[in-house]
Amino acid sequence: MIHAGAPSSPVILHVPHSSTAIPADVRRGILLDDAALDLELLRMTDAYTDTIATTAAADAKTTPWRFVNDLSRLVIDPERFPDAREEMLTAGMGAVYTRTSGAATLRASDALAEAGLIARYFTPYATALAHLVDDRLNACRAATIIDVHSFPSVALPYELHSDLDRPEICIGRDDTHTPQILVDAAVEAFCGFGTVGINEPFIGTYVPLSHYGTDLRVRSIMLEVRRDLYMDESSGAPNEGAMRALGAALARLIDSAAE
Ligand SMILES: [Zn+2]
Repeated sequence: MIHAGAPSSPVILHVPHSSTAIPADVRRGILLDDAALDLELLRMTDAYTDTIATTAAADAKTTPWRFVNDLSRLVIDPERFPDAREEMLTAGMGAVYTRTSGAATLRASDALAEAGLIARYFTPYATALAHLVDDRLNACRAATIIDVHSFPSVALPYELHSDLDRPEICIGRDDTHTPQILVDAAVEAFCGFGTVGINEPFIGTYVPLSHYGTDLRVRSIMLEVRRDLYMDESSGAPNEGAMRALGAALARLIDSAAE
């Protein structure tokens, strides 16, 4: 779902993992009972990142655009490569997950069903986001994606780099698409929350494949907030005050990124 921003704003807040919605026919392909599914959603959903993005958009001097995934990452994960390039494929967590975060079976391995999910959900999503980037490039001659995530304070078994530190805030950067000035702005905006790690424990940031490595007008940075900063990770209950503070910090990054 695209929430329009100011015509003059080059900034797109991308929120891929905040939803828990799973269409009924997709739910039927998931081999967990309702209690196990609820637990998996609690672990894997970047809860309230859509709320934090909404607060930030309202606080920013120039309203950014927001591209929010209305469906759970258990339907498709828009941030994964839809093919063998994906390093998470070995953990059963490519664009279509076949395993849970605890390595249980989430779906039967079925190439035809996976191709169906890619065609129905992944491809239209990637196309729509690439179009929004083109739209911002045409309007502003620049586009800056801020990829908004959160992560659990304790590493889930599926994480490949679980030996890395888990600072309060992680900034993901890309060698080609993330200028240092954007990293500096993010560190300045979020240093009040604790340690800000760069590419630790999560690496990189989202750039549409259609622009990746070829269109340097597209800038991107990933924000990962450790969930214990703003929610109770076992119950899922949010801390409203902390979320407002995070939204205000994100607004400062948006303002810097729009300059
Ligand atoms: Zn995420």
